[in-house]
Amino acid sequence: MLYLVATPIGNLGDLSQRAIETLRNADVIASEDTRYTGILLKRLGIERPQLSFHEHNERHAAERIVALLREGRTVALVSDAGTPGISDPGFVLVRRCIEEGLPFTMVPGPSAFVMALVLSGLPAHSFTFRGFPPRKSAARQRFFAVDRDSPHTLIFYESPFRLAASLEDALAVYGDRPAALAFELTKKFERVERGTLSALRARLEQRPAKGEVVIVIAGAQTQAP
Ligand code: SAM
Repeated sequence: MLYLVATPIGNLGDLSQRAIETLRNADVIASEDTRYTGILLKRLGIERPQLSFHEHNERHAAERIVALLREGRTVALVSDAGTPGISDPGFVLVRRCIEEGLPFTMVPGPSAFVMALVLSGLPAHSFTFRGFPPRKSAARQRFFAVDRDSPHTLIFYESPFRLAASLEDALAVYGDRPAALAFELTKKFERVERGTLSALRARLEQRPAKGEVVIVIAGAQTQAP
């Protein structure tokens, strides 16, 4: 049986009891970064064999996991933070399990985009999660333009180093819409900035971004709150 296990996005207290038990009972823990997950396991007093599973070996490692599952082993898949398969490896393995008729489920838990959406104050009943935009401006603008007329709240992951450039491109493509930036969720310096895209960009010039961040942007025709 395969368990996709969500882990905290910052605050270790968010690790569920079921996640801990699943990790403890797994024959093998497949992780994005075995050293990083090793630290988490050590803190929990769990000693299980690990298998490396990251975006660069995802297809090959998925076959190793499929072989283990066929032998009847229990495998837990974790990413560095949050929910596996959400801007993290997991999708390929889920597809392979479906193809092979192998049983799998999730131990659900934190995901940064859900928390950012709810805290943004923007409509949360209907939204589009797009993950990371491309790194280059022209490609990013084309990526943003796909949802220009969408009425759904838009959510993006971004590196703090590209945040200012991404906001600039979002402003160029969407116009000056209401938006929110959710920084360092569940951590000591958690903060959510709300305002129009131009106001958020101006604030960023005064206080450059640090730490992890999620961008939430109102859909087309959403009124400012
Ligand atoms: N699988 C994760 C999830 O379920 O949220 C996402 C992993 S993705 C590689 C990492 C990105 O998620 C970061 O660049 C950031 O955009 C977002 N993120 C993760 N943790 C965060 C946090 N504590 N605060 C704000 N954003 C976070």
